[in-house]
Amino acid sequence: MTDLLSVEIALAHILDAVNPLPREPLSLTEALGRVLAEDIVSDINIPPFANSSMDGYAVRAADLAGATQQAPARLQVVMDIPAGSSPDQTLMPGQAARIMTGAPMPEGADAVIPVEQTDTNWRAGEDIALADHVSIYRSLQSGDYVRPAGEDIHTGQTVLQAGTTLRPQDLGVLAALGQAQITVIRQPRVAIVSTGDELVDVSEPLAPGKIRDTNSHTLAGLIHNIGGIPLRLPIARDTLDAVRGMFRDALDQQPDLIISTAGVSVGTFDVVRTVLNELGKVEFWRVNVRPGKPLAFGQVQGVPFFGLPGNPVSAMVTFDIFVRAALFKMLSKTDDAETVMAQTSEDIKSDGRRSYLRVQLHHENGQLIARTTGTQSSGALMSMVLADGLLIVPEDQVMVPAGTQLPVRLLR
Ligand code: AMP
Ligand code: MG
Repeated sequence: MTDLLSVEIALAHILDAVNPLPREPLSLTEALGRVLAEDIVSDINIPPFANSSMDGYAVRAADLAGATQQAPARLQVVMDIPAGSSPDQTLMPGQAARIMTGAPMPEGADAVIPVEQTDTNWRAGEDIALADHVSIYRSLQSGDYVRPAGEDIHTGQTVLQAGTTLRPQDLGVLAALGQAQITVIRQPRVAIVSTGDELVDVSEPLAPGKIRDTNSHTLAGLIHNIGGIPLRLPIARDTLDAVRGMFRDALDQQPDLIISTAGVSVGTFDVVRTVLNELGKVEFWRVNVRPGKPLAFGQVQGVPFFGLPGNPVSAMVTFDIFVRAALFKMLSKTDDAETVMAQTSEDIKSDGRRSYLRVQLHHENGQLIARTTGTQSSGALMSMVLADGLLIVPEDQVMVPAGTQLPVRLLR
């Protein structure tokens, strides 16, 4: 086993070779899912002014002391404050102002009585004349039904931090602060290259000896989910000219990263290896991991390059371990992959390499149980379709008895 590269050393080498991408300005309307490149500090209070949380009457709470259904307080109505207006009078003792939800509180008022708790009633859409007086059936505390200025966000508050992947609610906060234009990290452009005489495109019929290219589709999905832009290239045949042409086409896309699948296991695919040696500097590694032992990494005309194994599960697992980390570094983000501890439900034999087994998770008597999803063949994509996560069997373990606690990396 000593000639195998550890996962950690391989990863350290990869992270050393990739750099964070530059930032770019972006309209807020385009920003969902993008990575914020700067801290956002509010220069205003939200709400900007104290306002009513109900349709009702703005009052001085002291005027309602002791008011009940039987002995209502009676106040003079002196103002009408619809939403969007700005009251210009101060409310004096004994006075009330009709006020709508979201409208600014007038000077002098400190509480709002909802209309349902008065002797007036407004029906939606009707323009009801303002009554001279209102009877109020209960008392209030100062501040009731009032949203103070800055209740949500105060001036000087950091509302979002650099590195945040923007969600719908984050866009809302940016809009509240007037940030029509923000600064985000540029999305990594990732060229995906499938090679193999046996491969046909999804839209082509199968012929004897042929299989459909699945890797370019699973990888495109993985790249998209991390926030990259997948650039799928047509399948290249196993000839030097075809593979050279494909790498040239990939480079024409001005990618930040190139990923190929298949042809990295020693001796299988000399054309890819030959072309890589012409165009760049690529190392062929044997990593202490299963599935996915053969892995190539380097650069092709200055662009970081991964040569992943061809088997569909191996390609996905090595993407998850190695490429994902590289893309997170490019996006200046910390990896948000989640790991939980679970108890194995069966005896597991391993070969001493660090193994990523596809498992389903379920709860049993308050314990999380991991059960393997049938065949663990590195070509069996259904093991990934059925899996909730990847159970990690550490290196140097050849027998894991049922009931062992091991980490499971969740697949989302
Ligand atoms: P290789 O790494 O070339 O030895 O390929 C290993 C296995 O993965 C073979 O069974 C290939 O047919 C299969 N394979 C290679 N590329 C793809 C692909 N793009 N989609 C699906 N299977 C593939
Ligand atoms: Mg092959």
